[in-house]
Amino acid sequence: MDDLLLDTARRAIRYRNALPERSVAPTPQAIAALDRFREPLAQRGTSASDVIAMLDAIGSPGTVASAGGRYFGFVIGSSLPVTVAANWLATAWDQNAALAVMSPTAAVIEEVALAWLVDLFGLPDGTAGTFATGATMASFAALAAARHAKLREVAWDVDADGLFGAPPITVVLGEEAHASVGRALALLGLGRERVRTLAADAQGAIRADALPAAIEAPAIVCAQAGNVNSGASDPFDALRDWSDRAGAWLHVDGAFGLFAGASPSMRAQVRGVERADSWATDAHKWLNVPYDSGIAFVRDPEALRGAMATAASYLPTQPLREPFHFTPDFSRRARGVEIVAALRSLGRTGVAALVERCCRHARRFAEGLRAAGFEILNDVVLNQVVVALGDDATSARAIERIQREGVCWCGPTRWRGRAAMRISVSSWATRDADVERSLVSIVRCAAAASRTGEAA
Ligand SMILES: *Cc1c(COP(=O)(O)O)cnc(C)c1O
Repeated sequence: MDDLLLDTARRAIRYRNALPERSVAPTPQAIAALDRFREPLAQRGTSASDVIAMLDAIGSPGTVASAGGRYFGFVIGSSLPVTVAANWLATAWDQNAALAVMSPTAAVIEEVALAWLVDLFGLPDGTAGTFATGATMASFAALAAARHAKLREVAWDVDADGLFGAPPITVVLGEEAHASVGRALALLGLGRERVRTLAADAQGAIRADALPAAIEAPAIVCAQAGNVNSGASDPFDALRDWSDRAGAWLHVDGAFGLFAGASPSMRAQVRGVERADSWATDAHKWLNVPYDSGIAFVRDPEALRGAMATAASYLPTQPLREPFHFTPDFSRRARGVEIVAALRSLGRTGVAALVERCCRHARRFAEGLRAAGFEILNDVVLNQVVVALGDDATSARAIERIQREGVCWCGPTRWRGRAAMRISVSSWATRDADVERSLVSIVRCAAAASRTGEAA
Protein backbone atom coordinates (compact mmCIF):
# COMPACT_ATOMS: atom_id res chain seq x y z
CA MET A 1 0.00 0.00 0.00
CA ASP A 2 2.79 2.47 0.85
CA ASP A 3 4.38 2.19 -2.60
CA LEU A 4 1.05 2.52 -4.35
CA LEU A 5 -0.09 5.60 -2.45
CA LEU A 6 3.33 7.29 -2.55
CA ASP A 7 3.66 6.63 -6.28
CA THR A 8 0.18 8.03 -6.83
CA ALA A 9 0.97 11.11 -4.74
CA ARG A 10 4.10 11.68 -6.82
CA ARG A 11 2.07 11.42 -10.02
CA ALA A 12 -0.55 13.83 -8.68
CA ILE A 13 2.14 16.29 -7.58
CA ARG A 14 3.77 16.09 -11.01
CA TYR A 15 0.37 16.82 -12.59
CA ARG A 16 -0.22 19.86 -10.41
CA ASN A 17 3.31 21.18 -10.92
CA ALA A 18 2.88 21.01 -14.70
CA LEU A 19 -0.31 23.11 -14.66
CA PRO A 20 1.35 26.55 -14.82
CA GLU A 21 2.99 25.77 -18.18
CA ARG A 22 0.79 23.23 -19.94
CA SER A 23 -1.79 23.93 -22.63
CA VAL A 24 -5.12 24.57 -20.92
CA ALA A 25 -7.12 22.48 -23.39
CA PRO A 26 -5.95 18.89 -23.96
CA THR A 27 -4.34 18.32 -27.37
CA PRO A 28 -6.35 16.46 -30.05
CA GLN A 29 -3.83 13.59 -29.71
CA ALA A 30 -4.48 13.38 -25.96
CA ILE A 31 -8.23 13.25 -26.59
CA ALA A 32 -7.80 10.60 -29.28
CA ALA A 33 -5.68 8.51 -26.88
CA LEU A 34 -8.63 8.30 -24.47
CA ASP A 35 -10.00 5.58 -26.77
CA ARG A 36 -7.51 3.26 -25.08
CA PHE A 37 -9.84 3.28 -22.06
CA ARG A 38 -12.57 1.69 -24.19
CA GLU A 39 -11.64 -1.95 -23.67
CA PRO A 40 -13.96 -4.82 -22.86
CA LEU A 41 -14.17 -5.49 -19.11
CA ALA A 42 -11.35 -7.93 -18.43
CA GLN A 43 -11.96 -11.36 -17.00
CA ARG A 44 -8.95 -11.10 -14.70
CA GLY A 45 -7.73 -8.15 -12.69
CA THR A 46 -4.70 -5.92 -13.25
CA SER A 47 -2.14 -4.92 -10.62
CA ALA A 48 -2.97 -1.76 -8.69
CA SER A 49 0.22 -0.02 -9.84
CA ASP A 50 -0.62 -0.74 -13.49
CA VAL A 51 -4.14 0.59 -13.00
CA ILE A 52 -2.80 3.87 -11.63
CA ALA A 53 -0.05 4.09 -14.26
CA MET A 54 -2.64 3.78 -17.03
CA LEU A 55 -5.00 6.33 -15.45
CA ASP A 56 -2.11 8.77 -15.26
CA ALA A 57 -0.59 8.05 -18.68
CA ILE A 58 -3.84 8.28 -20.63
CA GLY A 59 -6.12 10.18 -18.25
CA SER A 60 -3.91 13.06 -17.13
CA PRO A 61 -3.14 14.43 -20.64
CA GLY A 62 -6.85 14.25 -21.55
CA THR A 63 -7.90 16.51 -18.68
CA VAL A 64 -8.61 20.21 -19.00
CA ALA A 65 -6.22 22.31 -16.90
CA SER A 66 -9.11 23.97 -15.08
CA ALA A 67 -7.18 23.67 -11.81
CA GLY A 68 -4.49 25.95 -13.25
CA GLY A 69 -4.39 29.74 -13.43
CA ARG A 70 -5.34 30.30 -17.07
CA TYR A 71 -8.76 28.64 -17.17
CA PHE A 72 -11.56 31.22 -17.39
CA GLY A 73 -14.42 29.10 -18.72
CA PHE A 74 -17.89 28.77 -17.16
CA VAL A 75 -17.46 29.60 -13.45
CA ILE A 76 -14.96 26.98 -12.31
CA GLY A 77 -12.75 27.38 -9.28
CA SER A 78 -9.41 25.66 -8.87
CA SER A 79 -8.52 23.81 -5.67
CA LEU A 80 -6.15 25.22 -3.07
CA PRO A 81 -3.25 22.83 -2.35
CA VAL A 82 -4.39 22.50 1.28
CA THR A 83 -7.84 21.39 0.11
CA VAL A 84 -6.36 18.75 -2.22
CA ALA A 85 -4.32 17.47 0.73
CA ALA A 86 -7.37 17.50 3.03
CA ASN A 87 -9.32 15.65 0.33
CA TRP A 88 -6.61 12.95 0.19
CA LEU A 89 -6.72 12.51 3.95
CA ALA A 90 -10.53 12.42 4.01
CA THR A 91 -10.51 9.90 1.18
CA ALA A 92 -8.16 7.73 3.24
CA TRP A 93 -10.58 8.02 6.19
CA ASP A 94 -13.40 6.93 3.83
CA GLN A 95 -16.08 8.13 6.20
CA ASN A 96 -19.78 8.04 5.59
CA ALA A 97 -21.00 11.46 6.73
CA ALA A 98 -24.66 10.45 7.00
CA LEU A 99 -24.77 9.82 10.74
CA ALA A 100 -22.69 11.08 13.67
CA VAL A 101 -22.27 7.48 14.86
CA MET A 102 -20.66 6.59 11.53
CA SER A 103 -18.15 9.42 11.81
CA PRO A 104 -17.92 11.74 14.80
CA THR A 105 -15.11 13.56 12.97
CA ALA A 106 -17.18 14.20 9.85
CA ALA A 107 -20.17 15.34 11.94
CA VAL A 108 -18.20 17.82 14.04
CA ILE A 109 -16.18 19.19 11.11
CA GLU A 110 -19.40 19.63 9.17
CA GLU A 111 -20.94 21.71 11.97
CA VAL A 112 -17.81 23.85 12.10
CA ALA A 113 -17.76 24.33 8.31
CA LEU A 114 -21.39 25.45 8.30
CA ALA A 115 -20.95 27.79 11.27
CA TRP A 116 -17.87 29.42 9.72
CA LEU A 117 -19.59 29.92 6.37
CA VAL A 118 -22.70 31.41 8.03
CA ASP A 119 -20.35 33.81 9.83
CA LEU A 120 -18.30 34.56 6.69
CA PHE A 121 -21.39 35.41 4.62
CA GLY A 122 -23.01 37.37 7.45
CA LEU A 123 -26.10 35.14 7.50
CA PRO A 124 -28.41 35.17 10.55
CA ASP A 125 -27.36 33.31 13.71
CA GLY A 126 -29.02 29.93 13.94
CA THR A 127 -29.15 29.41 10.17
CA ALA A 128 -29.06 25.70 9.33
CA GLY A 129 -27.07 24.21 6.50
CA THR A 130 -26.72 21.16 4.39
CA PHE A 131 -24.14 19.81 1.99
CA ALA A 132 -24.89 18.85 -1.57
CA THR A 133 -23.08 18.02 -4.78
CA GLY A 134 -23.37 21.56 -6.08
CA ALA A 135 -25.47 24.70 -6.16
CA THR A 136 -28.13 22.94 -8.24
CA MET A 137 -28.82 20.36 -5.54
CA ALA A 138 -28.32 23.01 -2.85
CA SER A 139 -31.14 25.02 -4.43
CA PHE A 140 -33.13 21.79 -4.63
CA ALA A 141 -32.70 21.21 -0.87
CA ALA A 142 -33.41 24.85 0.03
CA LEU A 143 -36.50 24.98 -2.18
CA ALA A 144 -37.72 21.68 -0.70
CA ALA A 145 -37.55 23.44 2.69
CA ALA A 146 -39.44 26.39 1.18
CA ARG A 147 -42.12 24.10 -0.27
CA HIS A 148 -42.48 22.31 3.08
CA ALA A 149 -42.76 25.54 5.10
CA LYS A 150 -45.06 27.48 2.76
CA LEU A 151 -47.52 24.59 2.39
CA ARG A 152 -47.48 23.87 6.11
CA GLU A 153 -48.69 27.46 6.61
CA VAL A 154 -51.80 26.56 4.63
CA ALA A 155 -52.21 23.26 6.53
CA TRP A 156 -50.86 21.01 3.79
CA ASP A 157 -48.30 18.31 4.59
CA VAL A 158 -46.46 18.05 1.29
CA ASP A 159 -43.97 15.48 2.56
CA ALA A 160 -46.75 13.05 3.52
CA ASP A 161 -49.34 13.86 0.88
CA GLY A 162 -47.37 15.15 -2.11
CA LEU A 163 -48.48 17.94 -4.42
CA PHE A 164 -51.62 16.34 -5.90
CA GLY A 165 -54.52 18.45 -4.67
CA ALA A 166 -52.24 20.82 -2.76
CA PRO A 167 -52.92 24.56 -2.71
CA PRO A 168 -50.98 26.08 -5.64
CA ILE A 169 -47.69 27.82 -4.82
CA THR A 170 -46.84 30.99 -6.73
CA VAL A 171 -43.21 30.68 -7.88
CA VAL A 172 -41.43 33.84 -8.98
CA LEU A 173 -38.13 33.90 -10.83
CA GLY A 174 -35.91 36.58 -12.30
CA GLU A 175 -35.70 36.63 -16.09
CA GLU A 176 -31.95 35.92 -15.81
CA ALA A 177 -32.17 33.12 -13.21
CA HIS A 178 -29.63 30.34 -13.71
CA ALA A 179 -31.03 27.29 -15.52
CA SER A 180 -30.25 25.12 -12.49
CA VAL A 181 -33.01 26.81 -10.47
CA GLY A 182 -35.50 25.73 -13.14
CA ARG A 183 -34.18 22.20 -12.85
CA ALA A 184 -34.58 22.24 -9.06
CA LEU A 185 -38.16 23.54 -9.46
CA ALA A 186 -38.89 20.79 -11.99
CA LEU A 187 -37.57 18.07 -9.66
CA LEU A 188 -39.70 19.45 -6.82
CA GLY A 189 -42.90 19.27 -8.87
CA LEU A 190 -43.16 23.06 -8.87
CA GLY A 191 -42.58 23.26 -12.60
CA ARG A 192 -39.86 24.91 -14.63
CA GLU A 193 -42.32 26.86 -16.79
CA ARG A 194 -45.10 27.37 -14.27
CA VAL A 195 -43.44 30.51 -12.91
CA ARG A 196 -43.97 34.26 -12.91
CA THR A 197 -40.95 35.95 -14.43
CA LEU A 198 -39.56 39.26 -13.20
CA ALA A 199 -37.97 41.62 -15.73
CA ALA A 200 -34.21 42.14 -15.54
CA ASP A 201 -32.13 45.23 -16.34
CA ALA A 202 -29.22 45.51 -18.81
CA GLN A 203 -26.87 43.81 -16.31
CA GLY A 204 -29.26 40.91 -15.75
CA ALA A 205 -30.43 41.97 -12.28
CA ILE A 206 -34.13 41.96 -11.37
CA ARG A 207 -35.60 45.43 -11.81
CA ALA A 208 -36.83 46.69 -8.42
CA ASP A 209 -38.92 49.32 -10.23
CA ALA A 210 -40.82 46.73 -12.28
CA LEU A 211 -42.08 44.32 -9.60
CA PRO A 212 -45.76 43.35 -9.98
CA ALA A 213 -48.14 45.04 -7.55
CA ALA A 214 -48.95 41.80 -5.75
CA ILE A 215 -48.45 38.06 -5.81
CA GLU A 216 -50.70 35.43 -4.37
CA ALA A 217 -49.66 33.45 -1.28
CA PRO A 218 -48.27 30.91 -0.68
CA ALA A 219 -45.30 32.08 -2.71
CA ILE A 220 -41.60 31.42 -3.28
CA VAL A 221 -39.37 34.08 -4.83
CA CYS A 222 -36.01 33.02 -6.34
CA ALA A 223 -33.30 35.66 -6.60
CA GLN A 224 -29.66 35.52 -7.57
CA ALA A 225 -26.30 36.72 -6.25
CA GLY A 226 -23.87 36.74 -9.18
CA ASN A 227 -25.25 36.45 -12.70
CA VAL A 228 -23.31 33.72 -14.47
CA ASN A 229 -22.43 36.09 -17.33
CA SER A 230 -22.23 39.59 -15.87
CA GLY A 231 -21.69 38.91 -12.15
CA ALA A 232 -24.58 41.27 -11.27
CA SER A 233 -26.74 40.60 -8.22
CA ASP A 234 -30.45 41.20 -7.65
CA PRO A 235 -31.71 44.03 -5.38
CA PHE A 236 -32.23 41.96 -2.23
CA ASP A 237 -33.59 44.72 0.03
CA ALA A 238 -36.33 45.58 -2.45
CA LEU A 239 -37.11 41.90 -3.08
CA ARG A 240 -37.29 41.17 0.66
CA ASP A 241 -39.72 44.02 1.30
CA TRP A 242 -41.82 43.03 -1.70
CA SER A 243 -41.81 39.31 -0.78
CA ASP A 244 -42.89 40.14 2.77
CA ARG A 245 -46.15 41.64 1.50
CA ALA A 246 -47.18 38.17 0.28
CA GLY A 247 -45.42 36.36 3.12
CA ALA A 248 -43.24 34.82 0.41
CA TRP A 249 -40.12 32.73 0.95
CA LEU A 250 -37.06 34.41 -0.59
CA HIS A 251 -34.38 32.05 -1.93
CA VAL A 252 -31.02 33.23 -3.29
CA ASP A 253 -28.91 31.29 -5.79
CA GLY A 254 -25.46 32.56 -4.86
CA ALA A 255 -23.33 29.81 -6.39
CA PHE A 256 -20.33 32.14 -6.59
CA GLY A 257 -21.83 35.58 -5.90
CA LEU A 258 -22.42 34.90 -2.21
CA PHE A 259 -18.64 35.07 -1.78
CA ALA A 260 -18.75 38.80 -2.53
CA GLY A 261 -20.08 39.05 1.03
CA ALA A 262 -16.76 37.66 2.32
CA SER A 263 -14.88 40.75 1.13
CA PRO A 264 -15.36 44.13 2.82
CA SER A 265 -14.75 45.93 -0.49
CA MET A 266 -17.13 43.72 -2.52
CA ARG A 267 -19.87 43.26 0.09
CA ALA A 268 -21.97 46.12 -1.28
CA GLN A 269 -22.61 43.95 -4.38
CA VAL A 270 -24.84 41.68 -2.31
CA ARG A 271 -26.33 44.22 0.07
CA GLY A 272 -29.35 42.80 1.90
CA VAL A 273 -28.68 39.20 0.85
CA GLU A 274 -28.70 38.14 4.52
CA ARG A 275 -32.40 39.02 4.68
CA ALA A 276 -33.37 36.02 2.50
CA ASP A 277 -34.84 32.77 3.87
CA SER A 278 -32.46 30.41 2.07
CA TRP A 279 -29.27 30.47 0.04
CA ALA A 280 -27.41 28.08 -2.25
CA THR A 281 -23.70 28.31 -2.88
CA ASP A 282 -20.71 26.32 -4.08
CA ALA A 283 -17.45 25.74 -2.26
CA HIS A 284 -16.01 24.18 -5.44
CA LYS A 285 -16.25 27.53 -7.21
CA TRP A 286 -14.86 30.55 -5.39
CA LEU A 287 -13.65 28.84 -2.22
CA ASN A 288 -11.45 26.65 -4.46
CA VAL A 289 -12.08 23.23 -2.90
CA PRO A 290 -12.15 20.06 -5.04
CA TYR A 291 -15.37 18.81 -6.64
CA ASP A 292 -18.04 18.33 -5.63
CA SER A 293 -19.08 20.73 -2.92
CA GLY A 294 -22.35 22.66 -2.77
CA ILE A 295 -24.00 24.05 0.36
CA ALA A 296 -27.54 25.17 1.16
CA PHE A 297 -28.41 27.43 4.07
CA VAL A 298 -31.90 27.79 5.52
CA ARG A 299 -32.78 30.47 8.07
CA ASP A 300 -35.40 28.29 9.79
CA PRO A 301 -33.75 24.96 10.72
CA GLU A 302 -37.18 23.38 11.24
CA ALA A 303 -38.13 24.04 7.63
CA LEU A 304 -35.06 22.18 6.38
CA ARG A 305 -35.30 19.40 8.92
CA GLY A 306 -39.04 19.09 8.29
CA ALA A 307 -38.42 18.58 4.58
CA MET A 308 -35.56 16.09 5.00
CA ALA A 309 -35.98 14.20 8.27
CA THR A 310 -36.44 10.47 7.97
CA ALA A 311 -37.28 7.77 10.48
CA ALA A 312 -36.40 4.07 10.22
CA SER A 313 -36.17 1.32 12.79
CA TYR A 314 -32.37 1.16 12.69
CA LEU A 315 -31.72 4.92 12.71
CA PRO A 316 -30.75 6.89 15.82
CA THR A 317 -33.49 9.02 17.35
CA GLN A 318 -31.46 11.10 19.81
CA PRO A 319 -31.91 14.84 19.53
CA LEU A 320 -28.23 15.46 18.56
CA ARG A 321 -27.71 17.06 15.18
CA GLU A 322 -27.79 14.15 12.80
CA PRO A 323 -26.30 15.34 9.51
CA PHE A 324 -28.61 13.23 7.39
CA HIS A 325 -31.74 14.89 8.84
CA PHE A 326 -30.73 17.99 6.89
CA THR A 327 -29.63 16.54 3.54
CA PRO A 328 -31.41 14.94 0.61
CA ASP A 329 -28.81 12.10 0.73
CA PHE A 330 -28.22 9.28 3.12
CA SER A 331 -24.64 8.10 2.39
CA ARG A 332 -22.24 10.76 1.25
CA ARG A 333 -18.64 11.88 1.59
CA ALA A 334 -17.43 14.28 4.29
CA ARG A 335 -17.48 17.52 2.30
CA GLY A 336 -16.90 19.66 5.37
CA VAL A 337 -13.26 18.55 5.61
CA GLU A 338 -11.99 20.49 2.60
CA ILE A 339 -14.12 23.52 3.47
CA VAL A 340 -12.65 23.72 6.98
CA ALA A 341 -9.16 23.21 5.51
CA ALA A 342 -9.68 26.13 3.08
CA LEU A 343 -11.13 28.46 5.71
CA ARG A 344 -8.56 27.59 8.37
CA SER A 345 -5.72 28.02 5.92
CA LEU A 346 -6.95 31.31 4.44
CA GLY A 347 -8.61 32.92 7.42
CA ARG A 348 -11.15 35.71 6.93
CA THR A 349 -8.57 37.99 5.31
CA GLY A 350 -7.34 35.25 2.99
CA VAL A 351 -10.82 34.57 1.64
CA ALA A 352 -11.35 38.30 1.12
CA ALA A 353 -7.97 38.56 -0.65
CA LEU A 354 -8.82 35.62 -2.94
CA VAL A 355 -12.14 37.23 -3.92
CA GLU A 356 -10.59 40.66 -4.39
CA ARG A 357 -7.65 39.34 -6.44
CA CYS A 358 -10.02 37.58 -8.87
CA CYS A 359 -12.09 40.77 -9.21
CA ARG A 360 -8.92 42.80 -9.85
CA HIS A 361 -7.85 40.36 -12.57
CA ALA A 362 -11.32 40.66 -14.15
CA ARG A 363 -11.00 44.46 -14.23
CA ARG A 364 -7.55 44.14 -15.83
CA PHE A 365 -8.99 41.84 -18.51
CA ALA A 366 -11.69 44.42 -19.25
CA GLU A 367 -9.15 47.25 -19.36
CA GLY A 368 -6.75 45.33 -21.62
CA LEU A 369 -9.46 44.22 -24.02
CA ARG A 370 -10.98 47.70 -24.21
CA ALA A 371 -7.54 49.12 -24.96
CA ALA A 372 -7.26 46.59 -27.81
CA GLY A 373 -10.50 47.95 -29.27
CA PHE A 374 -13.03 45.39 -28.05
CA GLU A 375 -16.37 46.18 -26.50
CA ILE A 376 -16.99 45.07 -22.92
CA LEU A 377 -20.69 44.29 -22.69
CA ASN A 378 -21.13 44.19 -18.91
CA ASP A 379 -20.30 46.40 -15.96
CA VAL A 380 -17.36 44.50 -14.46
CA VAL A 381 -18.60 44.59 -10.87
CA LEU A 382 -17.26 41.19 -9.76
CA ASN A 383 -15.11 38.46 -11.37
CA GLN A 384 -16.99 38.20 -14.69
CA VAL A 385 -16.24 39.87 -18.03
CA VAL A 386 -18.42 39.64 -21.15
CA VAL A 387 -16.59 40.82 -24.26
CA ALA A 388 -17.66 41.10 -27.91
CA LEU A 389 -14.86 39.97 -30.23
CA GLY A 390 -16.61 41.09 -33.42
CA ASP A 391 -19.78 39.97 -35.17
CA ASP A 392 -21.33 36.63 -34.20
CA ALA A 393 -19.34 34.56 -36.72
CA THR A 394 -16.01 36.26 -35.92
CA SER A 395 -16.61 35.81 -32.24
CA ALA A 396 -17.22 32.06 -32.66
CA ARG A 397 -14.04 31.69 -34.77
CA ALA A 398 -11.99 33.71 -32.28
CA ILE A 399 -13.13 31.62 -29.32
CA GLU A 400 -12.31 28.44 -31.21
CA ARG A 401 -8.79 29.73 -31.90
CA ILE A 402 -8.28 30.82 -28.30
CA GLN A 403 -9.26 27.40 -27.01
CA ARG A 404 -7.09 25.63 -29.59
CA GLU A 405 -4.05 27.82 -28.92
CA GLY A 406 -4.25 26.66 -25.30
CA VAL A 407 -2.75 29.70 -23.56
CA CYS A 408 -6.08 30.18 -21.83
CA TRP A 409 -9.62 28.83 -22.08
CA CYS A 410 -12.73 31.00 -22.34
CA GLY A 411 -16.17 29.99 -23.53
CA PRO A 412 -18.89 31.51 -25.66
CA THR A 413 -22.13 33.01 -24.42
CA ARG A 414 -24.97 35.16 -25.68
CA TRP A 415 -25.52 38.43 -23.92
CA ARG A 416 -28.39 40.81 -24.70
CA GLY A 417 -28.84 39.17 -28.10
CA ARG A 418 -25.15 39.19 -29.11
CA ALA A 419 -22.54 36.47 -29.38
CA ALA A 420 -19.82 37.17 -26.86
CA MET A 421 -17.00 35.58 -24.91
CA ARG A 422 -17.21 35.14 -21.18
CA ILE A 423 -14.21 35.40 -18.86
CA SER A 424 -14.62 34.17 -15.29
CA VAL A 425 -11.69 34.61 -12.90
CA SER A 426 -12.32 32.24 -10.00
CA SER A 427 -8.96 30.67 -9.19
CA TRP A 428 -6.38 31.29 -6.46
CA ALA A 429 -3.75 30.20 -9.02
CA THR A 430 -4.28 33.08 -11.48
CA ARG A 431 -1.33 35.48 -11.33
CA ASP A 432 -0.86 38.84 -13.04
CA ALA A 433 1.42 37.14 -15.59
CA ASP A 434 -1.35 34.65 -16.47
CA VAL A 435 -3.73 37.51 -17.20
CA GLU A 436 -1.17 39.31 -19.40
CA ARG A 437 -0.28 36.15 -21.35
CA SER A 438 -3.97 35.41 -21.82
CA LEU A 439 -4.72 38.95 -23.02
CA VAL A 440 -2.01 38.65 -25.69
CA SER A 441 -3.45 35.32 -26.84
CA ILE A 442 -7.04 36.61 -26.95
CA VAL A 443 -6.09 39.72 -28.93
CA ARG A 444 -3.94 37.68 -31.35
CA CYS A 445 -6.67 35.06 -31.93
CA ALA A 446 -9.41 37.66 -32.36
CA ALA A 447 -7.31 39.52 -34.95
CA ALA A 448 -6.64 36.28 -36.85
CA ALA A 449 -10.34 35.36 -36.72
CA SER A 450 -11.25 38.76 -38.09
CA ARG A 451 -8.73 38.38 -40.98
CA THR A 452 -10.00 34.91 -41.95
CA GLY A 453 -13.52 36.42 -41.94
CA GLU A 454 -12.45 39.08 -44.45
CA ALA A 455 -10.78 36.46 -46.64
CA ALA A 456 -14.01 34.45 -46.66
C1 LIG B 1 -22.55 27.29 -11.29
C2 LIG B 1 -23.86 27.90 -10.98
C3 LIG B 1 -24.97 27.11 -10.64
C4 LIG B 1 -24.92 25.61 -10.68
O1 LIG B 1 -24.04 25.13 -9.72
P1 LIG B 1 -23.53 23.61 -9.76
O2 LIG B 1 -22.53 23.59 -8.66
O3 LIG B 1 -22.94 23.40 -11.11
O4 LIG B 1 -24.71 22.75 -9.50
C5 LIG B 1 -26.14 27.74 -10.28
N1 LIG B 1 -26.24 29.08 -10.28
C6 LIG B 1 -25.21 29.88 -10.62
C7 LIG B 1 -25.40 31.36 -10.58
C8 LIG B 1 -23.98 29.32 -10.98
O5 LIG B 1 -22.96 30.11 -11.31
